[in-house]
Amino acid sequence: METLEFQAEARQLLQLMVHSIYSNKDIFLRELISNASDALDKVRLAAFKDKDLQADTDDLRIELEADKDQRTLTIRDNGIGMSRAEVVDLIGTIAKSGTAELLRKLKESKENSADLIGQFGVGFYSSFMVADKVTLVTRKAGETEGTKWESEGEGTYTIEALDDAPQGTSVILHLKPEDKEDHLFDYTAEFKLREIVRRYSDFITWPVRLKVEKTADGETTTEFETINSMKALWARSKDEATEDEFKEFYRHISHDWTDPLEIIQMQAEGTFEYQALLFIPSRAPLDLFMRESKRGPQLYVKRVFIMDECEALMPEYLRFIKGVVDAQDLSLNVSREILQQDRQIQLMRRRLVKKILSTIKAMSSSDAEKYKTFWQEFGAAVKEGLVNDYDNRDAILEICAFASTHSDDELTSLKDYVSRMKEGQEHIYYLTGASRTIIENSPHMEAFKAKDYEVLILTDAVDEMWVSSVPAFDGKQFQSIAKGQVDLSDDASTEEKTKDFADLLSWMTETLKDNIKEVRLSSRLTTSPACIVGDANDVTPTLEKMYRAMGQ
Ligand code: ADP
Ligand code: MG
Repeated sequence: METLEFQAEARQLLQLMVHSIYSNKDIFLRELISNASDALDKVRLAAFKDKDLQADTDDLRIELEADKDQRTLTIRDNGIGMSRAEVVDLIGTIAKSGTAELLRKLKESKENSADLIGQFGVGFYSSFMVADKVTLVTRKAGETEGTKWESEGEGTYTIEALDDAPQGTSVILHLKPEDKEDHLFDYTAEFKLREIVRRYSDFITWPVRLKVEKTADGETTTEFETINSMKALWARSKDEATEDEFKEFYRHISHDWTDPLEIIQMQAEGTFEYQALLFIPSRAPLDLFMRESKRGPQLYVKRVFIMDECEALMPEYLRFIKGVVDAQDLSLNVSREILQQDRQIQLMRRRLVKKILSTIKAMSSSDAEKYKTFWQEFGAAVKEGLVNDYDNRDAILEICAFASTHSDDELTSLKDYVSRMKEGQEHIYYLTGASRTIIENSPHMEAFKAKDYEVLILTDAVDEMWVSSVPAFDGKQFQSIAKGQVDLSDDASTEEKTKDFADLLSWMTETLKDNIKEVRLSSRLTTSPACIVGDANDVTPTLEKMYRAMGQ
């Protein structure tokens, strides 16, 4: 037997669990059942892919067994199991990106820590909310040696080899003594376990069996009774499932503890049949803008789990969408490579994207608050689609919102901008820059302010990219007010003045010729004496900086 230490981050997270920052401890069971369900999905898939794998997949199930005298609760599955190395890796450390960041934030803000941690499933560690000792016995399918892991959640755990472990994983919770007298927390009580499973895990597609006592003819026997309905939620119609069930399902697949912002259900019949249940989260994940961030819904084929994060089904700019797609006519054998080229998958992806964009559009007109949340969290990612998704460019432009000189705090849609355009105004004016303050104080802005032209204020890095690739909205071109000749004068005086100042202008051009192309009179300034503008086709200074940073 060996004693090992938890990784520092894991230890911190465990501390939070031991001192239970959640008001709702019941959810530990959902987490453990969710893990067991994943393990069953995995063993079925592994056995399917590798016919030689020594795995038993005859009666895949999750079992719950409570012992009132010992005060233990065991959650058992006969799924994929873990090797010793995997136990150390998966249970002893936290590999998720963003953990360090999350823990730092948690330390800074004491009050809303439950809120913060909600962005991040704590999974297995939630066992320590209800148990003061957890024993995990596991054997990986196809391997002979099992592993026993045990911890009290205080910094260290022990690990040892076992000869006679069954395939799969058993988690034995030694329940905290302080919960003993409180029937609300009696996790050995049949009614309590039934209630939790019904509330949180009903849709799990594997049987969850509870060991119960049956008395008949004065004789008491025990048996395992299935206590979940096992109905795949995505195959049910909206009125066959409750809002709460959808939310629980979202938590199961997303590992997010907060409610989704929007639920999108699709059921396509006909030659190519599929069901999709998609979710827009209410918060952006911490790694939304990290390069390795994963994307795509889970893929099932005829109720059989095939893969997590099916990126072939979702473009990068919609990487925050979670959900499940169940296709009827794909081979169970599909690989990621095949999926990328599959025409049916391409077709499905197009339909999913259209549906998502139209849902957001509907949200923007029916629920302004919700839409605002959406845009604040995901707008910067969505705008990447303007650069990459040519087919849906117009639909994306329609759901975009931008800061503008029209209002100090409200964003505007392009449609509203266009409706406010002045008589004779042909272009949609914008200025890009690092912040609103910098943009508002730019000398380029002076004449536009003086003449009361509305200018979009674009401060996201991605704005630089799309404004140079999107030609127009509603027939109106986008025009940077820092580029080319933006002439706002309404008389011929500039021309006359240019004649008057011709000598000065050519002297200045000559003197500054190493640094500039031309000096000209402008009507765009009101108080500043001079400003530097780019040529109509030049890259903007910000984009130039970005390119340089990218080494181009
Ligand atoms: P998550 O489920 O979000 O990955 P968890 O803390 O719940 O995080 O679990 C960590 C990892 O431990 C899982 O990803 C899985 O690889 C492994 N694991 C947990 N429970 C089981 C189980 N019952 N069977 C097999 N592997 C498991
Ligand atoms: Mg989990």
